[in-house]
Amino acid sequence: MGINQMEFTPVIGLEVHAQLKTRTKIFCSCSTAFGAPPNTHTCPVCLGMPGVLPMLNRKVVDFTIKMALATHCTVQPESRFARKNYFYPDLPKGYQISQYELPIATGGYLDIEVDDRPLRIGITRIHMEEDAGKLIHDPDRPVSRVDLNRTGTPLMEIVSEPDIRSPEAAGEYLRQLRIILRYLDISDGNMEEGSFRCDANVSIMPTGSSVLGTRTEVKNLNSFKHVEKALYYEIARQREILHDGGRVVQETRLWQPDKGRTVSMRGKEDAHDYRYFPDPDLLPLVIDAAWIASMRAEMPELPARRRARYVADLGLPDADARVLTASRELADYFEACLAEFDQPKTVANWIMGDLLGLLNARGLDITRSPISPANLAGLLNLLDEDVVSGKIAKTVFEAMAASGKTAQVIVEEKGLVQVSDTTAIDPIVDAVIAGNPDEVQRYRGGQKKLMGFFVGQVMKQTKGKANPKIVNEILRKKLG
Ligand code: ADP
Ligand code: MG
Ligand code: ZN
Repeated sequence: MGINQMEFTPVIGLEVHAQLKTRTKIFCSCSTAFGAPPNTHTCPVCLGMPGVLPMLNRKVVDFTIKMALATHCTVQPESRFARKNYFYPDLPKGYQISQYELPIATGGYLDIEVDDRPLRIGITRIHMEEDAGKLIHDPDRPVSRVDLNRTGTPLMEIVSEPDIRSPEAAGEYLRQLRIILRYLDISDGNMEEGSFRCDANVSIMPTGSSVLGTRTEVKNLNSFKHVEKALYYEIARQREILHDGGRVVQETRLWQPDKGRTVSMRGKEDAHDYRYFPDPDLLPLVIDAAWIASMRAEMPELPARRRARYVADLGLPDADARVLTASRELADYFEACLAEFDQPKTVANWIMGDLLGLLNARGLDITRSPISPANLAGLLNLLDEDVVSGKIAKTVFEAMAASGKTAQVIVEEKGLVQVSDTTAIDPIVDAVIAGNPDEVQRYRGGQKKLMGFFVGQVMKQTKGKANPKIVNEILRKKLG
């Protein structure tokens, strides 16, 4: 088969940098708080002064162990920090402290689903490193400023195997990683703000082959949408090169979001260019079984487990379980409702429909919901006990969102209690029958569909408060 007819399969491996939510930096006690005036969160250690000694922040290790456990990695009993040497104005020491030959965790995986098909993406390694500072380029003058507040902020790098085969799968892998980071409460996982960054390595190979092609590494991907777009672009670009009989050059490429293309940034640097060597200022990191066990004990139930439990124990459809476990806070909200109204599917429907719709419209996340779990459960109890009708319940829901009051109070204040008392409904039915002699005649003549008309009339008279089941019964009896 000529190269022109050849089908190619994309091969993608992702390197993710997650900023860890520790209070202080990885090797000094400077604050990691964002937004302070430039160079105020600095000290001789993170400024890279000669003669100072870094001290490893234990929390960074705690967090990384948790991520390693969540992704089925082996936590190494001994790992090391190394110096990655290069020059750049945002790196005052001239080297970045990272882990290289002996990372803290290796050999894990993450299970995802793409188009309802399960996929297991291997995780090669997880390691810890420090972030560099930030350059601020003056748009008007040929001047750049250096802010070293971010220098020494802890990062966790998660490197995947080249197991990903499509841009959609890459996006899904990233989304699932981020959900886990947030469940563990170790990173904000915010791509737009740079606390969750991704470099995408991509190559293509003839479909059916197992020999990987030459890859490029794409940088500057700062949203999920851009990851997928950039990968589509890069796959198409490489395919074109091979179709034209050319060869892909191994290099680092920059995604230009406004132009929708990648451009060559630099030739791929090799590891030896960095002159890695163990950092003599830091002892090997020794992690014993007790440390790992204590981290395991602190871990919350993870989304995959929680989702499976909702299906198995609560009888929810998998699609519902997936939505409800998309964040820990949403799942907690669901369970808090359930504690006061024990009908999982009903609660799920109200959360996924009315509540998420409301939050979406207001641009809020679940932690800022104007309706508390107890208040939602309160409404569902009134509905279940036939105190309010389904239609009135929607009105009460809106009122709860507006006022924050309980359903009970709103129903009382607005007189929305459903009327199920036949002695109250009887005379209204009589009046409707008396007022519509033509319809009554047609109904009795066989046009049974007119029942809906009569029910509607009664509901109108009672402002929607009559219990429709009782109305139906009475009408049927009286119309014969
Ligand atoms: P580096 O640190 O130099 O970028 P690594 O060997 O750590 O190199 O690989 C980085 C990423 O590149 C990993 O996620 C890996 O899965 C991915 N990768 C390696 N080879 C290929 C390839 N041929 N095509 C696509 N991705 C690849
Ligand atoms: Mg790389
Ligand atoms: Zn410092």
